[in-house]
Parts: sequence; C-alpha cells; structure tokens
Amino acid sequence: MRLSRAIALVLAAATLLAGCAGASTAGAGGSDGKLTVVTTTTVFADMVSNVGGDLVSVTSIVPKNADVHTFEPRPADIRTVASAKLLVMNGLGLDDWLQKTITDASAAGTPLLQLGVDLPGVTLLPGETPDTENPHLWMDVKYAELYVDRIATALGSVDPAHAATYETQAAAYKQQLETLDAWVRAQIATIPVANRKLVTFHDAFPYYAREYGITIVGVAVEAPGQDPSAGYTAQLITAIKNAGVKAIFSEAQFPPKLVDELASEVGCKVVANLYDDALGDPPVTSYEEVIRWDTTQLVQALS
Ligand SMILES: [Zn+2]
Repeated sequence: MRLSRAIALVLAAATLLAGCAGASTAGAGGSDGKLTVVTTTTVFADMVSNVGGDLVSVTSIVPKNADVHTFEPRPADIRTVASAKLLVMNGLGLDDWLQKTITDASAAGTPLLQLGVDLPGVTLLPGETPDTENPHLWMDVKYAELYVDRIATALGSVDPAHAATYETQAAAYKQQLETLDAWVRAQIATIPVANRKLVTFHDAFPYYAREYGITIVGVAVEAPGQDPSAGYTAQLITAIKNAGVKAIFSEAQFPPKLVDELASEVGCKVVANLYDDALGDPPVTSYEEVIRWDTTQLVQALS
C-alpha cells in the first residue's frame, strides 16, 4: 500500500515535470522555433497561418486541389501528425480519418481542435441514414469567423506566452473577413432574384446559400466517392428543369464528367472550377480567395 502510494507520488511528479517541460518549449515546437500546427485541409491551414503569423509553422495533410472526403493518409502523414503540437480538423464527418492517424502516430495526447463541432445552425445532409451533419460550415464567412475564434483560443492555450498576439492577429483577420462578408452580400445582390439558384457537384454550399440568399436546387452526388443512382439523377434533372437553373457548378478537385452529363441533359452551361474543401492554384491560394473566386463565378454565370 505504502509502496504503491510512493509510486503514485513519483508518477505525479514526473507528470508535472513533463507538463512544465512541455509548457516551456511549446513556443519552440519546431526546429525553426515556431509552433508546429498540422491541419487536415489547406483551407484550415490558411486560417491558422492568418491567426498564428510568424509564430506558427502550419502543414496541411490533404494537399491543395485534393479531396478531403475520400483522402487516405500515407505513412508520411503519420509522421507529420506525430510532429504536431496542435492538430486542427473540422469534424462532422469531413475529415474523421485524422482520428485513426492520431492513433497510428501515438499522438493521443496532442491537443486536437475540431473547428465545426458543437456550433449552432448545423443542417443535415439529405438522404443519409443515420442522420449526418453537413460539415461545410466555413463556406459561410460568419462561421469562418467562429473558426478563427476557436483557432486563437487553441493557439493561446498551447502557447500561452503568445496568447495576446494570437488574439490581436485573430481580430485583424476577422476584420478582413467582415469586409469579405459584406462584399459577398453586395455581389450576390447583383444577381437577378429569380436566377439565385445553385446546383453543385457535392453538397458544400448549403451554409453559403442560406447566409447569402441562394436556393440549392440539388447536388450531383450525395457524397464524394459514391456514384448516384439512376433514380436520384432522374429526380435531379427534373428539379433542375423545373427550377430553370442557368448553370451547374462543379469543384476543381472533382472530375467534371457527371456534371457535364447533367448539363447536356438539361441544356445549361457548366462552371467547373468552384473551390470549397481545398485551396488551388493562384489566385485561389487562401480562404478569402476561395470565397471571392466562387462568388465571382456565381455572379458571372447567373447574372
Ligand atoms: Zn466537401
């Protein structure tokens, strides 16, 4: 009894020491003295870069122009996760493969920030059983601002010495996002009301559409990696024809074949280069540019 209590005390002291060591080196997580942050997608990496500035070194596991939904981590990704001082994902089914990667990397003790979990106003993906929440909250700039708050809090918690700097940089970034949000509203206002209808490849735009006053008529696939049934596609074609949709949109990271077939069936044009889950080539190299680019494509195709 006495021995086990002594062991417990030693273990407690060791834990405290480890805790102190962790705290004192948290600001110097990487070999370059920066805090090493690993995100699942390039969009979240850009947000972390804006909040962390020169204090952080950020790596996205999913590369630009790649699909997060069907991504399969490679051995190099396990090493990347093992090196992180903070891990950032969305949750809600977008990037759940990170959880297994954390286990494979023995990184269960690394702080994990889930940007999209437990926020109000989340909608469900239609047709999914059991009920599945739609993860694409960040496409509404108002939700992106909530993501930024969470990033600032998490960085400050892992690196308390710089918490005030993270808060200041987050506030400046949110100011830019406020400007972006106002710009989107002004742009969408130029589209005739009857034309504010959207068909996309996958269901990434419900929050954008809800916030900025656009109706989602349908999506070509219920989930990336799943081929739609003939019945599903037939229903979608009817809905598109009834709604008088002017253009069908797809995203740069998905093959355009299905959307091309849909468009030729209903006789409307295709815009095949929206961005949502991943950044792309210039000029779409930041979250803000994703929103600017997509909004510009919508205005051009629907006006
Ligand atoms: Zn997506």
